[in-house]
Amino acid sequence: MMMKIAFIASEIFPYAKTGGLADVAGALPKVLENLGCDVKLFIPKYGSIEEKKFGLKFISNIKLPVEIAGKTRMVYLHRANLPGTRVEVNFIDCPYHFFRDKIYTNDPDEDERFILFNKAVIELILQFRWIPDILHCNDWQTGLIPVYLKNNYTRNKRLKNISTLYTIHNIGYQGTFSESTFSKSELNKDLLNSISPVFPENFSFMKYGILFSDIINTVSKTYASEILTPEYGEGMEQILDKKKSVLVGITNGIDYSEWNPLTDENLPFHFDFDHFKGKARNKKFLLDYFKLEYNENLPVIAMVSRLVGQKGFDIFAEAMNELIKIDAQWLFLGIGEDRYEDLFKSLTHAYPDKIGSYIGYNNELSHIIVAGSDIFLMPSRYEPCGLNQIYSLRYGTVPVVRRTGGLADTVRDWHEFKQHGSDSGNGFSFFEYSGNALLTTVQRAVETFKDKQLWKKIIKNGMSEDLSWEKSGRDYLDLYRRCLKK
Ligand code: ADP
Repeated sequence: MMMKIAFIASEIFPYAKTGGLADVAGALPKVLENLGCDVKLFIPKYGSIEEKKFGLKFISNIKLPVEIAGKTRMVYLHRANLPGTRVEVNFIDCPYHFFRDKIYTNDPDEDERFILFNKAVIELILQFRWIPDILHCNDWQTGLIPVYLKNNYTRNKRLKNISTLYTIHNIGYQGTFSESTFSKSELNKDLLNSISPVFPENFSFMKYGILFSDIINTVSKTYASEILTPEYGEGMEQILDKKKSVLVGITNGIDYSEWNPLTDENLPFHFDFDHFKGKARNKKFLLDYFKLEYNENLPVIAMVSRLVGQKGFDIFAEAMNELIKIDAQWLFLGIGEDRYEDLFKSLTHAYPDKIGSYIGYNNELSHIIVAGSDIFLMPSRYEPCGLNQIYSLRYGTVPVVRRTGGLADTVRDWHEFKQHGSDSGNGFSFFEYSGNALLTTVQRAVETFKDKQLWKKIIKNGMSEDLSWEKSGRDYLDLYRRCLKK
C-alpha cells in the first residue's frame, strides 16, 4: 500500500525560509517520494513567495470560508510541484492574514494567522478526494491540527483513520499566546486545561501538538532526551514526560541536490576531497568579496546563523577579546536580534582587517561561506539538530561546536576520540557553556590547523560520511508505520 502523507509546515525551502525547518520540509518529502510515499505539502501563501519563479497555479474551483475569531475569511488555493519532484505543494492563500512580507510577525493577529492555517489544512483535505494516512505536523505553527482532528472532527468518517506525527524542530518556540486565544481557536479551554497542568492560563500551540499527536519526534536523539530535563525542556518537560514512550529522535540529513560541493550552483568553484583545489579558490573568492587579504596559512573561521540567544552569542561575546587575538580571520553572516547585529557590526568596524560580516539573509553567500571557510563555529546553548555543522562536514570545513543536541550527535572531537584510540574525529567540541571553554576549543582547532596533514585527515573523516537523507527518510517511514498502528 502506498502511504499517503500530508506534510504541513510554516516554512519550506525554496519558497519561504528562516531556518532549518525549511530545509527539512524541502528535502524530506523528496526522499519519502523516492521511498514510495504519496506526499503532499501544505504551507501558507506568504506575500514574499515568488509566484512566477516557482510556477504557482491558482486552483479556481476551491474557495473555502474559514471561521476565525467570529469572522469568516476566504481561503484560496495555489499549487506547484516541489522543484525536481512530483510532490504537490499546496499554498494556502488567505490574503488578509498571509499577504505580508514576513513569515512570522509581531502583529496582533499572529495567533489567528496560524489558527486559520491549521483549520484550513483540514478543511482543504476534506475537499480533496485524497485522504492522507498521516498528518505530519511540524513545530508550533501546526500544533493545533492534531487537536482539531481529535476533538472537532471525531464524527467525520473520512478523517477518522488519520494518524498524526508531530515533529519538534525547536522547543524554544512554542506559540504561546494569552488566554484570549482560546476563544479564537474555538477549542474548549476547560478540557485543554484539565489535560495539562502546565501554564494553564496560557494558550500554547506546541503544548496541544505534543498532547494530541500519536507520536512525537525531535530532529536528533540527544535533543529528544535533553528536552525531558528542566534545563532544555523550556517548561514542556512535564508534558513530554507523559508522552515519553512515543518520543523519538531522528537526526536530519542534508539534501545532496542542494548541498554538494561538486555540483552546488551557488559556488564559484566546485570541489570534492579528491579534487580539493576548488576549496582554496572559494576561500580566495570569499576573502576578496569581504575585502580581506588571502593567506592560505591563516584559518578562516565562519558563523552563519540566525542571530538569537540560542546560538551561543553570549559566550562568544564573553570570549571575544581573547578570540580576536587568535591568528585567524572571521566571517559572519546572520540576521536577528539587534543586540547581536550591533555586536557583529561593531566588531567588524573595530577589526576591518580581520573580520568580514554581512548582516542580512543571503542563501548564495551562505553556501560560499560554508565552502570557502576552514572552520565553522556553532557554540549553541541548545541545538535541536543544527544543519550548518553537517553542511560544513560535507564541504570540508571543520566544525567547532558545543556538545549539545544534534551537534553532539554529528560532531566527534578529534582529540577526545584520539584519547580512546580512534582517529575518526571530524571536528572539535566542548561541553561547558562558557566563554572559556569556547575559547580554548577554538584555540585547539587553530593549533591543529597548522598541521596540514592531520587537518586533511579530519576533513576527510567529515567528507566521507554519509550525511544524506536516505537513512533518516527510512526512519521516518518506520515512524509513520508505527503511527498507523496507534
Ligand atoms: P536553525 O533552524 O535554528 O536556524 P539550522 O542550523 O538547523 O538552525 O539551520 C539554519 C539554516 O538557515 C541553514 O540552512 C543556514 O545556512 C540558514 N541560514 C541561517 N542564517 C542565514 C542567513 N543569514 N542567510 C542565509 N542562510 C541562513
